Amino acid sequence: MLYTTSVVFCLLWISAIVRATGSPFPFTAAQTACKLLNETLPNLVSFPGSQQFDADISHYRIESAQNATCSIEPVTPNDVSNIVKGGGHAYNVGFSSTLGVQISMAKFNNIHFDASTNTVTLGTGLIWDEVYAQLDPLGVTVAGGRVMGVGNGGPSLGGGYSWKTNQVGLTIDTIVSHDIVLPSGEMTHVTSKSNPDLFFALRGGLNNFGIVTAITYIAQPQTEIFGANIIYNQNISDVTKALETFHLTNTDPKAQLIATYASVATQAGSFIVSVNLFYDAPNPPPGTFDAFLKIPSMSNDTKTSTFSGYIARTSTDPGIGPIRQAIHVVPVVKYTVPILEEVVAQVTRIGNTLSAQFNGSIVIVTFSAEPFTDPFAHSRGGAYPHPPSRQVTPAQTLVAIQESAGAAAEPVILQAVKNLSRNVQARAIKEGQSKLNDLLYPNYALSDTPLELMYGSNVARLRSIAKRMDPQDVMGLTGGFKFQ
Ligand SMILES: Cc1cc2nc3c(=O)[nH]c(=O)nc-3n(C[C@H](O)[C@H](O)[C@H](O)COP(=O)(O)OP(=O)(O)OC[C@H]3O[C@@H](n4cnc5c(N)ncnc54)[C@H](O)[C@@H]3O)c2cc1C
Repeated sequence: MLYTTSVVFCLLWISAIVRATGSPFPFTAAQTACKLLNETLPNLVSFPGSQQFDADISHYRIESAQNATCSIEPVTPNDVSNIVKGGGHAYNVGFSSTLGVQISMAKFNNIHFDASTNTVTLGTGLIWDEVYAQLDPLGVTVAGGRVMGVGNGGPSLGGGYSWKTNQVGLTIDTIVSHDIVLPSGEMTHVTSKSNPDLFFALRGGLNNFGIVTAITYIAQPQTEIFGANIIYNQNISDVTKALETFHLTNTDPKAQLIATYASVATQAGSFIVSVNLFYDAPNPPPGTFDAFLKIPSMSNDTKTSTFSGYIARTSTDPGIGPIRQAIHVVPVVKYTVPILEEVVAQVTRIGNTLSAQFNGSIVIVTFSAEPFTDPFAHSRGGAYPHPPSRQVTPAQTLVAIQESAGAAAEPVILQAVKNLSRNVQARAIKEGQSKLNDLLYPNYALSDTPLELMYGSNVARLRSIAKRMDPQDVMGLTGGFKFQ
């Protein structure tokens, strides 16, 4: 499946029409905007029926793709500016899709390593696998996403949990500057010195402040790495114990893992744990992952490889065709055995219930534990608060059902992912490993998550920056979490 990264924006050009009609995305306004764009930037606009349009709006999950009226692929920041004066990987409907005009950033695909400043500058239309494959031979990388096919825009603007997070923090902690087209159409280079407020807002505030065309990151050294994907279909309690021990005792920042507890079934009863082990050097010190490696498993592909090779082989497409899915997040300090036993119980129960209800369609229910070690120790602040004083890890919950279940599955999926998250968090609270007001990672959070639960006390400052940078609320015409 090919993912494209895109930013969804309706146009300032149509904002007057939109405001006059009082309708957020009137079909005729979108048609007018597309016609105007096609007259002004004829080689960049695509319409339904063309291959380019299909590529621009394609989305990795079926219900997040919407049929835009047209799509446009700007090539330069100047094109973006002209558009502003007028599809992707966000999980929530409307966050990276639209019925209006879809702007695809695919042409912003520059990758530049500057050895003299030890920085990497990336256009925002890339996917991480392209980035890693080009940087690997240079012996450097950036602290970015962990799965193939995901765009660099969303994680870099929303937070960014990476295989380097224990060592250097989130992606936003490694950003030096942004190049952005502001809602006014002005192009500007943003650093902590040139515009401290905007630099703060862009590190977690997503698409509220303009269209980012390039981001410069601190380069990280990259050697070959040790990695494994191990799938267990039995001995689950041993895996759970190994996970607890790892999270409570690991002090080596180069050692990270993700453990996904999953019910994957056309009928009730199929349960696995998939563990991705990662050590940021060719060989981990003895003992690092031994507890996992000695548990008998269904499959195990432990090996030393390039970093990009590891990302490629651990990013598997379940191969079940189009799905409907929702994800959410549970903030957990440390994954203890009682919390993980609750995870097994909830994933199994919800998987079995949905399999019975949508008999014949494949149902996937997962809980991914991300047992980071001091992930916020390198925090440099930013819109997404991740203070060293409260280090919660973002466990991702997911419920997905094959498209054959039809649109009726949509509300059921949403409710199920909420139930799974709420029930596991209740147990984590009981175990002293979570609080009801712990902040949620915006890139995993459901679309109805209150701003305060993701941005905490930063909300007031972000609202005020948004008002100042975007007095006409142009970015309000785009999807996603909004500060105005
Ligand atoms: C398979 C998979 C694996 C993932 N792995 C990780 C991971 O390892 N770490 C992690 O932290 N998160 C991860 N995520 C979550 C990810 O951070 C979010 O889904 C994110 O929204 C994806 O960003 P994108 O650029 O691919 O998607 P898009 O849908 O294109 O963008 C997401 C949001 O960011 C905005 N945006 C994107 N580019 C720009 C831009 N240039 N200017 C302004 N706004 C912009 C869009 O408007 C949209 O609201 C993963 C998601 C998936 C689907």
